[in-house]
Amino acid sequence: MSETFCGLIGCGDRAGDETEYALNDYEGPVARWCPGCGDHSVLTAVQKLLVAEQLKPEETMFVSGIGCSSRFPHYLKTYGFHGVHGRALPVATGIKLHRPDLTVFVVMGDGDCTSIGAAHWVHAIRYNMNMVAMLLDNSIYGLTKKQTSPTTPRGYKTNTQPSGSYLPPLNPLSTMLGTTNVSFIAQTAEWIPAHLYATLRAAYHHRGLAFVRILQRCPMYTASIYERAVKDPSLVELLVHDDGVLVPELEKIYKTRRAHDPASLGDARALAEDQSGGIPSGGAKRRSEEQSQDRIRLGVFFRDENRPCYDEIRRPPRVSADERIALLNKELDKYAV
Ligand code: SF4
Repeated sequence: MSETFCGLIGCGDRAGDETEYALNDYEGPVARWCPGCGDHSVLTAVQKLLVAEQLKPEETMFVSGIGCSSRFPHYLKTYGFHGVHGRALPVATGIKLHRPDLTVFVVMGDGDCTSIGAAHWVHAIRYNMNMVAMLLDNSIYGLTKKQTSPTTPRGYKTNTQPSGSYLPPLNPLSTMLGTTNVSFIAQTAEWIPAHLYATLRAAYHHRGLAFVRILQRCPMYTASIYERAVKDPSLVELLVHDDGVLVPELEKIYKTRRAHDPASLGDARALAEDQSGGIPSGGAKRRSEEQSQDRIRLGVFFRDENRPCYDEIRRPPRVSADERIALLNKELDKYAV
């Protein structure tokens, strides 16, 4: 790498950088999530993506809020910001606006994104900035030891609602697909690594905010929720289309498939609503924590790369290193005596 380049403030010349990055260029310390936690699988898929895309560690940023999955930036050798509860998206927005050259990933849990951060979540969808946002949805507040979150299934017993969650869960897919200027919504599952990786790769290549809801097992507090779907592939329906996610190696295992053109917002909304986001909602027949979902639908629900991106509209003018120094000297000259 050119010695004249500063990754922190984006100044200098990186011409001639022939570095080839390997997995250990991205791997941080050993992750401290529980054994069997789905977060491990997501971390592996993301590291694989970083290698495949040869993303420069010094130009890659992971922003998180608070929660189990928000420890993500600690386990990577890229830049990272482990921030405040529910505030990952506004922090990422600020970073991307001022450093559009950086690749920005946002990592949130269901409590972080859909509860405390819900106001930021909706507006981030509308702002449609060029970032990848991952919602690691385990349907519970894990870090605070089994508290009901907005996506906890109705009837599921938690420490805050020991008789069972009272309300139908919030459907993150429907919420996002109903938001103005939405441009990419996908759902995948961490226990199907090939689909997870293919979805993250499609998200990375999308222009605009690519939002991926990742269904995530929490063996500590919500082990039963996805148990049936993990054991029985027929309970998983894959959305397939040339503009979506195609994973040929899964064809023999996951045979329940549905052709879906992600260009259709109306169809995407209908598909998202129909499955209640993959989580049981109760409805007329109240379900218990031992009853898992009937069907999980995975794939790209919606994609439109022609929607306006706030960071492209409001992009600050690029200033060279010499121009920055000149501006700095001009300011300092004001105080010359
Ligand atoms: Fe993972 Fe659940 Fe353990 Fe948190 S509590 S690290 S989500 S298994």
